[in-house]
Amino acid sequence: MTQEDRLIGPGDGTPEAQWLGWLSDHAMQDAALDELLCGSQRVLLVAPHPDDEVLAAGGLLAMLAAHRHDPLVIAVTDGTASHPGSTEWPAERLKRERPLESLEALTCLGLAGVNLRMQLPDGGLQAAEETLSRRLEEYLHSGDMVVTTWRHDGHPDHEATGRACARACERCGARLLEAPVWAWHWAQVNDERLPWERARRLHLDARAQAGKRDAVRAFASQLAPDPSTGAGPVLRNSTVARAMRPFEVYFV
Ligand SMILES: [Zn+2]
Repeated sequence: MTQEDRLIGPGDGTPEAQWLGWLSDHAMQDAALDELLCGSQRVLLVAPHPDDEVLAAGGLLAMLAAHRHDPLVIAVTDGTASHPGSTEWPAERLKRERPLESLEALTCLGLAGVNLRMQLPDGGLQAAEETLSRRLEEYLHSGDMVVTTWRHDGHPDHEATGRACARACERCGARLLEAPVWAWHWAQVNDERLPWERARRLHLDARAQAGKRDAVRAFASQLAPDPSTGAGPVLRNSTVARAMRPFEVYFV
């Protein structure tokens, strides 16, 4: 599968109604939180951009918080490249605001905030992949569980983060869960490019669903159109709709 096979096009991507219909008709292996975590002592959530922690795994984080687990949340970039050419949202403003939005979102999930900001370049993680991997290894212990974006997700930063986490986990003896985020946009239902046999569905309880819903609303910079460039919201309606699902899907 080449990068061209998973291009993120304009618009809303595969309609959520299609996904929900297909997912309800096709059995996917369910996993309870404990089964997903395989007895791991600690969870590290690695987010390429501020908002991926919620879009990829907000429900899982909320359920961990409710069970008094204390995950380590790592922000790889500050998300300063989300509004190219914008005078409304220049990089300096994004650098200030997006970490604050993350803090607010994580509070909605019952967590204290981001534990570590790596401040690697947004849009430049392919070039920084080995640096990211090595820095992750400083925090990883054998038996940890790393949760991050899928290494074939379609967004170059998401893919670089997925690969860097996989390498760090291999070197440290940690486990890995990868979450599709953009793949829901470019992939079709029943798409053979996705490893459905490795997919596990985590059902979210009502509290986790509500927390995730509130957490998504915290990303104000990503939810409004930009009058200075005429661009629509960075988080499209379809992305927000997927974040309202009563379940999350992980590749084990
Ligand atoms: Zn992202």
